[in-house]
Amino acid sequence: MAVLQGQRGWLRAAIMAVGFIALAAGPALAQAPDLSKVEYRTEKLGENLYALFGGGGNIAVLTGPDGALVVDSDLVELSPKLRAALTMVSEKPARFLVNTHFHFDHAGGNTTLGRSGTVIVAHDNVRKHLMTRQVVNVGVDIVTEPTPPEGLPVVTFADGVKFHVNGETVAVSHADNAHTDSDAFVFFEKANVLHTGDLFMSIGYPFVDAGNGGSLDGLIAAHARALALCNEQTRVVPGHGPLVGKAELQAYHDMLVVVRKRISDLVRKGRTLEQVQAAAPTREYDERWGKGFVQPQVFIQRIFIEQKRAKAGVRAPG
Ligand SMILES: [Zn+2]
Repeated sequence: MAVLQGQRGWLRAAIMAVGFIALAAGPALAQAPDLSKVEYRTEKLGENLYALFGGGGNIAVLTGPDGALVVDSDLVELSPKLRAALTMVSEKPARFLVNTHFHFDHAGGNTTLGRSGTVIVAHDNVRKHLMTRQVVNVGVDIVTEPTPPEGLPVVTFADGVKFHVNGETVAVSHADNAHTDSDAFVFFEKANVLHTGDLFMSIGYPFVDAGNGGSLDGLIAAHARALALCNEQTRVVPGHGPLVGKAELQAYHDMLVVVRKRISDLVRKGRTLEQVQAAAPTREYDERWGKGFVQPQVFIQRIFIEQKRAKAGVRAPG
């Protein structure tokens, strides 16, 4: 099993761009995006709310007299650019940073912000993961070394937390065992904007980080809870990909339910992974979501493994 060290930013960026199968076949051959060429793009979401699109996970920034509240901090390599991008939208420094989960492309800028006095807030498990060496298997193991103390969340929560700043109510809710074991989605109530972190990627099938407590069942349950917050006017900031509305998140949720049912039925009939893949349970969705970071056969494989495990659990004595 190849192991990629976390400091090699181009390689990690390549994983996001190229996808699992290509990298598993030969990471050295992957086309590496040049992070030095990444420029932040800003989209205004409300009177004092912005989305920032950089090189890793999407960012939200709430600005105002109380100081900025930032959701996610991108790749470590982009920290100087992130700082510059933040000053373009916020006169005041970042007072709070919320991490949607611990992955390196969402929490990489933590140390830079923490060192400048930003209070980092996240689920209990984000802190636990960041304190240790993190291994994320995307076909190969991506290893990220422990985060320095200044980059760790100093306020953690089990179920959720609310911020009351800059005239906005920001509701942060934990989702159990979904993309990872540390996820939170963030709802800006007044602006009617939802940041999902990697619970949702508008550009492709989800990545379930099973090695760090993720599960498709948890992901589907998280979507149902997040959808309950939305109406037709809600704008959704996904972990990766362009902004969408409630309808796209609903369609994604419905797709996951259908694919899970199809694979679960095939597993119940005793089909092998090869047979399940050959049955093409994602067929009508591949055009829309099959060209992203997680390729269809990998997506099917991960659900297959989870459903196999669930079936074994049902059969267990007692
Ligand atoms: Zn992630």
